[in-house]
Amino acid sequence: MNLHRAAFRAALALASFAAVAALAQEAPAPVTVVHCPSLFDSAAGKMLGPSTVFVSGNRFQKVEAGTQTPLGATIIDLPGATCLPGLIDDHVHLDDQLGPKSYEERAQVNFANLVLRSTLYARRTLLAGFTTVRNVGDTDYDTVALRQEIAAGTVIGPRIFTAGPAMSTTGGHADDSNGLSLKLQGDPGPLQSIFNGADEARKVVRLHYKEGADLIKAMPSGGVLDLGTNGSGPQMSEDEIRAIVETAHDYGMKVAVHAHGAEAIRRSVIAGVDSVEHGTFMDDEDIKLMVAHGTFYCPTVYTGQFVAEQAKKGAYPPTVAAKALAIGPQIMNTVTRAYKGGVKFAYGTDAGVYPHGQNWEDFIYLVKAGLPPAYTLQMATINAAQLLGHDDEIGTVAAGKYADLVAVPGNPLDDITVMSKVNFVMKAGVVYKRDGREVLTQ
Ligand SMILES: [Zn+2]
Repeated sequence: MNLHRAAFRAALALASFAAVAALAQEAPAPVTVVHCPSLFDSAAGKMLGPSTVFVSGNRFQKVEAGTQTPLGATIIDLPGATCLPGLIDDHVHLDDQLGPKSYEERAQVNFANLVLRSTLYARRTLLAGFTTVRNVGDTDYDTVALRQEIAAGTVIGPRIFTAGPAMSTTGGHADDSNGLSLKLQGDPGPLQSIFNGADEARKVVRLHYKEGADLIKAMPSGGVLDLGTNGSGPQMSEDEIRAIVETAHDYGMKVAVHAHGAEAIRRSVIAGVDSVEHGTFMDDEDIKLMVAHGTFYCPTVYTGQFVAEQAKKGAYPPTVAAKALAIGPQIMNTVTRAYKGGVKFAYGTDAGVYPHGQNWEDFIYLVKAGLPPAYTLQMATINAAQLLGHDDEIGTVAAGKYADLVAVPGNPLDDITVMSKVNFVMKAGVVYKRDGREVLTQ
């Protein structure tokens, strides 16, 4: 071989290597396009016409008007459907679902049973179109484990942001020893998320951080479903709530509070919490304070109706039934007043008190309470994402965000009940439901 030929071969090899490299660079990543006859623009609160949503990997690549069919792309047609960003429920309890035996079972059930059940509840939630949830109260951080397994792909479910166990004072709404005999009560303390005083409150927040919680849930007022008699009175001092909020915010965690009574809401908002859950007896002063502080309201409106109905059917012990009948039906009226007063709402249902997978019920009751359908859809997308502090990643269909996309048959702005019929679910670019049927991904 002469030198010329060797040099020519080397040049050829280099050239072909360069060509292959160029091809590798130019070869577009596999793209899926979804043809949406209409697309809800959650940022603007408006319905767009025919749109093509481009998905690459786990993210949205771009959105274009009209029906585009790029060469080589996988096409998903959704005739007659309205597409929306993946729905977000900011108030669920994935490791629990109340049933007729819940109260007697409480002292006997194995922790592993709760965990196993949570995998079914998570799947039902995702298939109902809720691609992200905020879990606000669990047992022993089991939803931290659930979050990790879903993220790893071993369990099917929504993306989870979890508070771990809810924080409560002794005898408060989340003190599980309420109703037990003194002999069985033990002395629940910070390790069980029960605290008294600002110092213990700080310790519980730090324990939550250490155990992998994403946010904090606290119970500054009484509640319906525990066995205590106090359903709405304050159960934390302002000083205690402030200690929770300051510590949580130091660690980058937001604070959600369960609060029914006006005084507990007032203390919480002044102390700087990020959201008020339920808010049943919110008064005009609370409404003004929430607007001034930018505090979100998660109304859990259907749960209020549900617990009152269940109480009438004899589903709860007498103490619980009395509270359910007094508190439940008030929420519709509160929702109307808070909306008119300018409070910012995020979608939160309390699923687990009623069956998981029916998280759409709140859309119907919020519209009945007088909220515009488009606003209820924003609550469950962009607003819920803002409350989570992750609106840069989820809550809108936009380039660079997680490819979370769902579809319903028809236009929810004309008929909100179509939200109960989510028939297409994509989370992070993976299709879990199509044509109303679950798609096997494992
Ligand atoms: Zn709850």
